[in-house]
Amino acid sequence: MTAIFFSLAAFVSTLGGGLFALRYRDHLHYLLSFTAGVLLAVVSFELLPEIFELAHEHALDPSWAMAALVAGFLFFHSGEKFILIHHAHESDYAAHRHPHVGMLSALALVGHSLLDGVGIGLAFQASTAVGLVVAIAVITHDCCDGLNTVGLMLTHRNPTPRAVAMLVLDALAPVIGAASTLLFQLPPVAVMVYLGFFAGFLLYIGVSDILPEAHSKAGPSTAIRLIGLTAFGAVLIYFVSRWA
Ligand SMILES: [Zn+2]
Repeated sequence: MTAIFFSLAAFVSTLGGGLFALRYRDHLHYLLSFTAGVLLAVVSFELLPEIFELAHEHALDPSWAMAALVAGFLFFHSGEKFILIHHAHESDYAAHRHPHVGMLSALALVGHSLLDGVGIGLAFQASTAVGLVVAIAVITHDCCDGLNTVGLMLTHRNPTPRAVAMLVLDALAPVIGAASTLLFQLPPVAVMVYLGFFAGFLLYIGVSDILPEAHSKAGPSTAIRLIGLTAFGAVLIYFVSRWA
């Protein structure tokens, strides 16, 4: 039940990010930089130690989880490049944009948010401490998911009500994902492999989505402050993971 509670916070975060994006898209760089540090630290200080603890406790081979990490990273990389190929072609015909490309990209984000929710649920199945920190990682970056959903819909000329409807769907996805984990209990080996996959996924979105977006309009002086915030996010999670 705790997982559902935290997925509701993810719902609010996604919705907030999306609504914020409708008005103040250019002011989100600081939050994005901080989030990237949070994701890096959650992988390093929570997910990887938990994977090795599970492996030790149940006499499992942790290299399966590491293979899942690489697979997760590559899966999201290839998925996103496939969608970005569409984007590149779209910009060749600036006056000729297809709302359905925006819809498709936004639906891919909804699928991603579903995994966010499953990640929270399974992390709580592993332990409360891991669940808590994974929930923090999901809640902080979900405002970027909301922002991206609205951004994708609007740049592809979807009407605002349709963008908002997609945003609501994206916000509901983590709650549905977390709720789904109440219906099944995975064996330790599957939890370990999923946590590895989820670590690859979080690393990928931090490195490939969030940091480039955070620095997209930053000059040299702003970049230093943004990097400082990324480091701050990482250090903060280090201490949270010590206490949790
Ligand atoms: Zn997400």
